[in-house]
Amino acid sequence: MDEQINKRYLANKIFETQFALEDLRQIVREALPTGMSDEQSARFSEIVSGLGGLVEEIGAKDGQTQPVSIVGDLMCRTREEEFINIQPIQAGGRLTPEARKAVIAYGDGYSTCDSCRKPFRLDKIEKPSIAGFHTDLAEFVGMDQARVVPGARRGFQAVASTLVEKGDDVVVSAFAHYTEFLAVEGAGGSIREAPVNEDNILTAESVAHKIDEVKKETGKLPSLIMIDHFDYLLCNEHDIYGIGKVAQEYGIPFLYNGAYTVGIMPVNGKKLGADFIVGSGHKSMASVAPSGVLATTEEWADKIFRTTQMVGDVTGRKFGIKEVEFLGCTLMGAPLLSMMASFPYVKERTKHWDEEVKKSNYFLNEFLRIEGNEVLSEFPRKHALTKVDTTNSFDKVAKTHKRRGYFFSDELKKRGIVGEFPGATRSWKLSTYGLSWDQIHYLSDAFLEIAEKYELNIN
Ligand SMILES: *Cc1c(COP(=O)(O)O)cnc(C)c1O
Repeated sequence: MDEQINKRYLANKIFETQFALEDLRQIVREALPTGMSDEQSARFSEIVSGLGGLVEEIGAKDGQTQPVSIVGDLMCRTREEEFINIQPIQAGGRLTPEARKAVIAYGDGYSTCDSCRKPFRLDKIEKPSIAGFHTDLAEFVGMDQARVVPGARRGFQAVASTLVEKGDDVVVSAFAHYTEFLAVEGAGGSIREAPVNEDNILTAESVAHKIDEVKKETGKLPSLIMIDHFDYLLCNEHDIYGIGKVAQEYGIPFLYNGAYTVGIMPVNGKKLGADFIVGSGHKSMASVAPSGVLATTEEWADKIFRTTQMVGDVTGRKFGIKEVEFLGCTLMGAPLLSMMASFPYVKERTKHWDEEVKKSNYFLNEFLRIEGNEVLSEFPRKHALTKVDTTNSFDKVAKTHKRRGYFFSDELKKRGIVGEFPGATRSWKLSTYGLSWDQIHYLSDAFLEIAEKYELNIN
């Protein structure tokens, strides 16, 4: 067995030490270029002499600890340090150490703007290399041009607001995310859902059929097709290549929603026949919220990334190359810098997607050994996020347990696992994304142990 550590203690001690360093940093900021005042110098020495003790306490790996306050009752978040977190939407957005460093170094408001020069636009900034990052991002998703946006939803919004006129129809999946509904609603369009089949998969035929239906009813084609490669409900893979072909055949612009793909698996927009690729930084690119990407082809770039034509009637002012859909500049500061800092790692990790799928299936095969457990998503899995059903296993235990459904969260938490919906023992979602094989084995054993403890049959 490895050396015992106290994760909560360590997380808190490390925060205490980091905060002491931040206090030092503040003194450096406040000191005059010519030197510190006596007061600053005394405070500086006091903090420095405390650091030795803090570092020693970290080295001890165990001891007494208190939750660490940032200010007042705003406390530090230690969930990722303390636990294996299987929360379905948090897995791909966990920051890399590089992103956390970027947050520390670039957290100040308009920190990206130090070297902003004419023509004054975020994606043109050379230092830090924001311009280069935009080129890399476009290449990463196999498109010609990219912009960063505050979340995938803002990507849908930019496209819908450009392409959808009042009264237009937009075809989405019957499993579409609510943010697609809202983007279309905001643009004055109507949502038309293409149904999934009996296996909960959206086929190209279903999308084609929906397009025909709209055409027959309204006399015109939908102005946009917006489809999630993997949906948020079951995280099933839909026939995105087939749907791309249908979109091309009908000549309807096609937006690929990669909220659950861009940044965790390879995505190539040109191969998909997509006109727009949208990804979520905080869901799948190990980035601070809100962040995301909208990429497109040369063909669409001028339209989606159109620049302002407005002229002030009194002053005659014009704002040149500011892009209307993004209100000029989008992600300033920590969200963008975190994306950039995580990017080399993110690019690399998409090459190992197969391994993530293997881990997901390994865990679920163990999970299914518990009698009554079911997987509601397509199986074997093609993704790390899965909807499971434990009505005939853990929920049976919950019925007679004094803690009801919370018994299950309690048992997981005792074993250092969080992220299932607290109290939910019927159907719920989890993600194994980013867990190491050691953590996967540990997680699998924990589920089997809990089943055993409550005398559920294990096959
Ligand atoms: C999470 C999610 C979104 C929203 O992403 P944001 O980056 O938070 O705007 C959109 N679509 C799907 C399928 C999602 O899962």
